[in-house]
Amino acid sequence: MYINGEWLITEKTFAVYNPACGEEIGQVADGTRHHAVMAIEAAQAAFSGWAGTTAYKRSECLYRAYELMIERKQQLAELMTREQGKPLKASLNEVQYGADFLRWYAEEAKRVYGETIPSARSDQRFIVHHQPVGVVAAITPWNYPVSMITRKVAPAIAAGCTIVLKPAEATPLCAMAVFEILHDAGIPAGVVNLVTSAEPKPIGEEFCTNVLVKKLTFTGSTPVGKILARDAAPQLKRVSMELGGHAPFIVFDDADPVHAAKGVALIKFLNAGQACISPNRIFVQRSIVETFLKTLKERVVKLQAGNGLESGVTIGPLVNQAAVDKVDKQVVDALAKGATLLHGGKRLVEGNMKNGHFYAPTLLSNVSPDMLIYREETFGPVAAVIAFDSEDEVIAMANDTNYGLAAYVYTQNLSRAMRTFEALQFGIIGINDINPTSAAAPFGGMKESGLGREGARDGLKEYLETKLGGFSI
Ligand code: ADP
Repeated sequence: MYINGEWLITEKTFAVYNPACGEEIGQVADGTRHHAVMAIEAAQAAFSGWAGTTAYKRSECLYRAYELMIERKQQLAELMTREQGKPLKASLNEVQYGADFLRWYAEEAKRVYGETIPSARSDQRFIVHHQPVGVVAAITPWNYPVSMITRKVAPAIAAGCTIVLKPAEATPLCAMAVFEILHDAGIPAGVVNLVTSAEPKPIGEEFCTNVLVKKLTFTGSTPVGKILARDAAPQLKRVSMELGGHAPFIVFDDADPVHAAKGVALIKFLNAGQACISPNRIFVQRSIVETFLKTLKERVVKLQAGNGLESGVTIGPLVNQAAVDKVDKQVVDALAKGATLLHGGKRLVEGNMKNGHFYAPTLLSNVSPDMLIYREETFGPVAAVIAFDSEDEVIAMANDTNYGLAAYVYTQNLSRAMRTFEALQFGIIGINDINPTSAAAPFGGMKESGLGREGARDGLKEYLETKLGGFSI
């Protein structure tokens, strides 16, 4: 753990495993609630000093962290592949994405502007000013183990907050590597703190109930997000929640079905489908569904599962056996209810994969609303295709979910693009675009996919209080 500028180890540790082969790759300090308290107190002690530094100084620290992350890109990516499983090329992309947040907020730290507002009274002046909220507690997931950390830490410290972060128990090594970078970048003691633990619940309870914590930011599943929001409610702590998704991917018959199928093949199987913006329901207009499926199948068949450090591997393992079981349950349920299996549909246990958590890239068609996969987030490598007839019908089906994170639309009709963009109840919409994400753009969900936004100027506001001054002169 990293508390008050120092690394500490506990007597009790927990093991971290490579999901591709089951090999133990490290032992990590098993922090307790007591360590969460220590870290929060260190963050509180550092707060007024850090909030009082200039934006230029905070910007310089972030910029140095960006440069260090780029220098260490290869080693960080290799660690990520061993710890999280994604192919090396995807890990390199993620490190770049993670570093982008450090650079973007290094720039934006200098642009926390206030406002003056004209008053109706000649003897009055209004001034609006922004101040850091205080100590921030953050909880991050394992699927993007570097960028989900920088997406919180960078805006928090740009704003002048101090932070205590608990990473997912599956990926603490990546978190430690990020905090080494923050340390080496010269961020003062107590400003950033890392508490690793095999047991997230007590740490989460401390984050929610400790009065020194002024804001909680969480990325993870909707059920856990609801627990944390509930526990933070008695103190009305500010919360940001990036939760689950159930993204529709809609292909209209005026789009090129081959181009759309290539797009979905890329985005659906990225990170083995373990992304909250992964397309979970692929709606294709009936007249083009056969052409679409033909191209998609050609792409799915070519995916090469295995250890992400081996060349030629394009899809890695799932995070653990429970994830494999969940995916398999959805596929078995869909097949029992009449879906057609076009490829995959099984666990992969051949050769070196037997000790890992692999599921075959899978393509299902004839998926219908009575199936689990139509309702639940999959978080796995299964493309579920549903035919539709009209625009109204597909918008209604796409919105028929409690989730509201990402949606994708393929169409060449400008009016239809605008209509669907406006009608879809999702926070992020890719129009003929499979990657509508960037450090410069606001990321976040509607409905039960979350509260607040990360990235962009919106992401910085999450860490700022607005203060109004009314001056009588
Ligand atoms: P996933 O299903 O993606 O693993 P989780 O929501 O379980 O999503 O995990 C995301 C993060 O939330 C991880 O850092 C995990 O340790 C943490 N977490 C899980 N359960 C709790 C809890 N009860 N309180 C606080 N944090 C939790």
